[in-house]
Amino acid sequence: MLGFFIALALLLALAFSARRVWLRRRLGGLMRALPGGTPDLAVTVSSFSEIDDHVRGRRCPCGGRYEVLGEGSRVREGVRLRLLRLECGICERETEIYFDVTGVFH
Ligand SMILES: [Zn+2]
Repeated sequence: MLGFFIALALLLALAFSARRVWLRRRLGGLMRALPGGTPDLAVTVSSFSEIDDHVRGRRCPCGGRYEVLGEGSRVREGVRLRLLRLECGICERETEIYFDVTGVFH
């Protein structure tokens, strides 16, 4: 009988763990569908201060504000992209936002 409860507890733990992984993946997919979530959805800006404004205005799904972890630049098919890696100040979820900064250099 004890073995049955141990097996049941293990199955429940596995089910909760699988659900968390599924929810995290689903949320990641939704985050990539937001403006700037992929290079194809890059947010077009005309100045670098617009990038700061966008980051300040964006909230994590938990309600937390993002902090910039790092930045990088890429050129893709003639489009200059700025990539920001962000981390939520509350839940520490990391995300990325792409900006089209081609207009900044013209
Ligand atoms: Zn968060």
